[in-house]
Amino acid sequence: MSIPKKDPKGEVKKPVDPTAAAAPSKKGAQPVALLRGMRDLLTPDLVYFRHVQAVIAKIAGAYGFSEVETPQVEETALFVRGVGKATDIVEKELYTWETPGGESVSLRPEGTASVVRAYIQHGMLNMPQPVKLWYTGPMFRYDRPQAGRFRQFYQTGLECLGDADPIVDAQLILIAHLVAKELGIESIVKINSIGTPDSRTNYKNALVSYFRAKRSKLSEEDKKRLLKNPLRLLDSKDPGMQELKAEAPQMVDWLDEDSRVHFTRVLEYLDEVGVPYELDPYMVRGLDYYTKTVFELFAASDDPELAQTAIGGGGRYDGLVEMLGGRPTAGAGLAFGIDRLVSRLKDRQALPPHVEQVDIFLAQLGEMGRKRALAIFEEFRQAGIKVGEALTKASIKGQMEIANKMGAKWAIVIGQKEVLDGTAIIRDMDAGTQEIVDAKKLVHEIRKKLGK
Ligand code: AMP
Repeated sequence: MSIPKKDPKGEVKKPVDPTAAAAPSKKGAQPVALLRGMRDLLTPDLVYFRHVQAVIAKIAGAYGFSEVETPQVEETALFVRGVGKATDIVEKELYTWETPGGESVSLRPEGTASVVRAYIQHGMLNMPQPVKLWYTGPMFRYDRPQAGRFRQFYQTGLECLGDADPIVDAQLILIAHLVAKELGIESIVKINSIGTPDSRTNYKNALVSYFRAKRSKLSEEDKKRLLKNPLRLLDSKDPGMQELKAEAPQMVDWLDEDSRVHFTRVLEYLDEVGVPYELDPYMVRGLDYYTKTVFELFAASDDPELAQTAIGGGGRYDGLVEMLGGRPTAGAGLAFGIDRLVSRLKDRQALPPHVEQVDIFLAQLGEMGRKRALAIFEEFRQAGIKVGEALTKASIKGQMEIANKMGAKWAIVIGQKEVLDGTAIIRDMDAGTQEIVDAKKLVHEIRKKLGK
């Protein structure tokens, strides 16, 4: 399939044999472990995930956003151009590989670049503007796994393309606030403006002269940032940086007039709707495409670590459509970190652990009863009645315990005698009383009892 390629030193690389890793060991089959930073999501965790995604979908729909789904794999160039070459996400965290056809592709590390690509590709520039889209799905970053940070994680995001008005930014921030509120999470928005690329260049120069004078106090990592992407110095987690940052020039003092007015407007709109926010003069966000407004959403917490872990973020990206080959078009967006929202809900046990609740339970005795139960189950399913069963269990006592756990108010019991007589037993699970009914009238009788 693949032709051996020459590496830069001129040596021929052997194609990797993907089956080699699966060769059986001498000891027999070993369990295959999960990759680091990856998780299986099981119920009840998934119930929380779906709940959070549904709340965002509902609010996004109410605000006029329609759903879009883009592929999880894209040309690497999309992220290099869109997210930015010198960002941590592209430099260190992309899952990239070469396809058998020789293309460089990557798993998406975020959703905005793909949505913008789709906007250009499908001629959405020619639709009435703004175009409002939302998406949900897994994102992939080869980051160091730690609490609240995974290599496959989930985001639900909203993008509003084709309108430069500051009210768009404010409405996105309002939505962020409302989603948290609907989930029962008290939130605070941190906000900043990083201006236009031009005003940012002037600011960057001021920042470089400030940090150059303090170069000896910088960590090795931060010295590299100073050369490559000085704005990222402001995101540095280095303990010494907090002190250095306190005296550093602030972006707001370097904003161009248009960005300054825009920022003031956004804040006025937020005041108007009572969304709590804090100005964070050093917030830059890790992606290159942002212009003007940037923001992050935090959940109030007594735990200082949690209080500083963002549950969402976004901003304006007026240059991105053009950077990706479209005509100049404004845009702004927001993405929620679903894993982190879920973890906040779980900490507070904001949803009861999920147990399958049923209307009735179908219990069986003996082989004839079991066979009959298969057909009865289907009769009830078609009648829209939720039935629980434990067809593989023989003991009636065990089956009644399961019926109780599932919250069934009524149980049907079918044994050999009932099959031969053409009857069924209906048991009232609370009272413990039983009655015998004609099997043909079973669904009707249960409907009456359930009031359906
Ligand atoms: P970003 O645009 O990179 O700030 O991502 C938006 C949101 O996604 C963040 O506020 C986090 O809640 C979440 N997020 C980002 N990276 C990860 C990760 N590696 N693991 C879990 N959640 C993440």
